[in-house]
Amino acid sequence: MADNTRGLVIAVDGTAASGKGTLAKHLARTYNLAHLDTGSLYRGVSIRLLRQGVKREIDPQLAALEASRIEIADLNDPALRSEDTSAMASLVASLPDVRAALMEYQRQFANQPPDDHKGAVLDGRDIGTIILPNADFKFFCDAAPEIRAERRYKELLLAGETAIYADVLDAIKERDHRDMTRQVAPLRPADDAIHIDTGEFTVDEMVARAVQIIASPD
Ligand code: C5P
Repeated sequence: MADNTRGLVIAVDGTAASGKGTLAKHLARTYNLAHLDTGSLYRGVSIRLLRQGVKREIDPQLAALEASRIEIADLNDPALRSEDTSAMASLVASLPDVRAALMEYQRQFANQPPDDHKGAVLDGRDIGTIILPNADFKFFCDAAPEIRAERRYKELLLAGETAIYADVLDAIKERDHRDMTRQVAPLRPADDAIHIDTGEFTVDEMVARAVQIIASPD
C-alpha cells in the first residue's frame, strides 16, 4: 500500500497511443494526484533540437544539455504533439545521457509532487521498471497497432493536422520497435505490472477497472 510520507504513487506505462495518458489523467483526477506525462519531457527536448535545425543525426551531448534545461514551459509547447516531434522524441529517448538527465526530474516529481498534491501518477515507458520501481501500483497499457493508429489518426485530424492513416500506423510501429529494442530502459512491462488491453474497453471501463484494482489490490 501507499507509503504515508509520499502519498499514493502510480506508474502507467505502455506503447505509443495506447491510452496510457488518458488513464493517468483520470487516475490523477480520481485520487487528486499530480500528473506527469513523461513523454512530454522527451518531446520537449526534441522541440529544442528541431528548432536548432537538428535532423536525424543527433549530437548526444547537445541533446543531454537541452534535457538538463527542460522546464515547465517546454511541456506546454503547442508543437509537442506533432508527428515530427513524436519521431524525434523516440530517437532522443534512446540516448543514455538524455535519460539520465531527465531521471531526477521525474523522481523528484513523484517524491515531492507540486501544488501540495499528496501523491503522483507518471505515465511513460520505463516508469514501473526504472524511474519508480517501488510505485504502489503499476499499469501497462497496450492495444493492437491498428487500433492505436486509428485513435492517433483521429486525434491529429481533430487538431487540424493533415495525416494519412497508413503513415500514422507505420510511425507507431517504428516508434514501438525503437522503444522496445533500445539499450537503455527499453519499453517493457514491469514484472508486477497489471496489463490493460485498452482496445477492449471504453475509457470509462478502463478507468473503472484500474480504480477497482487500486481499491482491492489482491
Ligand atoms: O508517450 P509519448 O508518445 O508522448 O512519448 C514520446 C516518446 O518519448 C516515446 O516514443 C518514447 O521514445 C519516449 N519516452 C520514453 N520514456 C518515457 C516516456 C516517453 O522513452 N518514460
